[in-house]
Amino acid sequence: MKFFQDFLSLLYPEVCPICGNALLVGEKILCTICFYKLPKTNYHLDANNPVHELFSGRVNISHAATFLRFSKGGMVQRLIHEFKYKNKREIGFFLGELYANELMHTDWIKSIDYLIPIPLHPLKLKKRGFNQSEVFANGISNILNIPVRNDLLSRIKFSETQTKKSKYKRWENVKDIFEAPNSTALANRHILLVDDVITTGATIEAASQHLLQIENVKLNVAALAFAAI
Ligand SMILES: [Zn+2]
Repeated sequence: MKFFQDFLSLLYPEVCPICGNALLVGEKILCTICFYKLPKTNYHLDANNPVHELFSGRVNISHAATFLRFSKGGMVQRLIHEFKYKNKREIGFFLGELYANELMHTDWIKSIDYLIPIPLHPLKLKKRGFNQSEVFANGISNILNIPVRNDLLSRIKFSETQTKKSKYKRWENVKDIFEAPNSTALANRHILLVDDVITTGATIEAASQHLLQIENVKLNVAALAFAAI
C-alpha cells in the first residue's frame, strides 16, 4: 500500500492549492510559503472587530470572528474555490483545525456548547455533495472537542446567490429561510454559528433571528473568511 501511494504521488504529486507548487515532504495541504502568507484577521483577539461591528444593531452576537481576509483574486479566494468547487474537503477541514488552534487561546470559546454550521438547502447539498461550513466546523471540532450539531438548524427555502442584489433585496431573500426545529435542545446553550464566507452578514442575521427567540441562547459566530464590501 505504501509503495502504491508513493508510486501515485510520483505520477500525481500533491500540489499547494494556492500557488500550485508540488508539496514537499512534511508539508500538509499548503506549501510553507503560502502557509505563512495566509492573511489572518486575528479578529478573535479583538471583541470589537469589523465582523462584530457588522452585526451590531442588527442581532445580538456575543463574539464574532473570521479566520482569514478574503479579497478578490487573492489567495483566500483560490483556496476557497478549490475547497468548495473542486471537492477538496481536506482543505476546509485543515483550515478548521488551524483556526481552532488560535481560537483555543480565547476565553469565550471555552463556554461554547455546540458548533452549528450554517446549513445549505437540501437541493444545494445534494448538488455539491457536502456542506462547506460543516466541513470547516468538523475541523474546529476535531481540535476543540466541541460537538457539531447539524440537526438544530435547517434551511427551508432555496435562496439564489446574493452578491448582485441590493441590501434590501438580500434581506428579503434570506429572512425566512431558516428554521430551528428543536428549540428545547438549544435553550440555555452557548452556540458558535460556523459559516464559510461572511460578506453582508445577512445569512447569519437571518439564522440568528430564529435562534435568538429560544430561551437564554447565546450566539457567537466564526467563519472561514471575511469579504469586506
Ligand atoms: Zn503555495
